[in-house]
Amino acid sequence: MSSRAIPPGSDGTVNAESCVSLGAAQPQLDAYPTRDIALGHLQVQRALPVKGRRLIGPWCFLDRFGPLSFTEGAPMDVAAHPHIGLQTVSWLLDGEIAHRDSLGSESVLRPGGVNVMTSGRAIAHAEQTPRDHTGRLNGVQLWTALPDAVRRAAPAFQHVGEVPRLESPGGLVQVFSGAVGDVHSAATHFSPIVGAEVQVHRGGTVTVPVAPSHEHGLLVLDGDVTLEGQPLAPRVLYYTGTWRHALELVSIAGARVLLVGGAPFPETILMWWNFVARTPDEIREARTDWEAHRRFGEVLNYSGPRLDAPELLHLARPNPVS
Ligand code: MN
Repeated sequence: MSSRAIPPGSDGTVNAESCVSLGAAQPQLDAYPTRDIALGHLQVQRALPVKGRRLIGPWCFLDRFGPLSFTEGAPMDVAAHPHIGLQTVSWLLDGEIAHRDSLGSESVLRPGGVNVMTSGRAIAHAEQTPRDHTGRLNGVQLWTALPDAVRRAAPAFQHVGEVPRLESPGGLVQVFSGAVGDVHSAATHFSPIVGAEVQVHRGGTVTVPVAPSHEHGLLVLDGDVTLEGQPLAPRVLYYTGTWRHALELVSIAGARVLLVGGAPFPETILMWWNFVARTPDEIREARTDWEAHRRFGEVLNYSGPRLDAPELLHLARPNPVS
């Protein structure tokens, strides 16, 4: 039997990550330490996907960056790269990010606002620290998986300058995705979802109402906090399961906590590099189209070279802050 070299991926093999929602039948509290990733000056803590918990609701990716201060250079400079099958959701605690995409969108994100980019069948974007900046950067970037029924739709970009807030004596909830109680974000999503930053004042208690049928995750952004008496450590993603009616957060010195959740995502997704798909063929076609300058369009007004796709046989995790 003769052997011949097979170019990577030409046999249909794609070393992608299969992500299925495990869900939960009851409240629980599972801890998943985040992983540190370095990209130039930028340290990123990756919280999702994590082994054992690939999805929380439709959320399939969560990077935490900062807090950091800088006096020269641009800590965030993610060159033009493609996406399919997902939404990117960017939320800042401090600093600013300039977004540019192949639709021609240009937007500077600041704390209190949210950028939601729906890739649909194809989009490309770049994200950078803008020239006019505060010298600080602190935030998160998330992805949602798009349901099959809408994942091939036209791409779109949405900037919401100021998300709605729920204020209480104990703190403040800023709802950037979905709803908390009857407070709804203006951001467009395609499955039942919640994304919020919960600020707990010094000595305060914040009770966040949640849908019992949804599953949720919590990531401490800063400060000290307990969930129903259980201390939550930094750099750990906590999964709280389902069948809770509220999440009670208490802080001694004050805290900020990220809340993500939604209905358990009913579809198995395939993640490779910046693509969320269902089959290796879709990933291979998207990679080929990106390398051939087809389908995705070009990101204008980004001066550097764009990112090249990795080889298909390489298990390609997303770019940090992508
Ligand atoms: Mn991206």
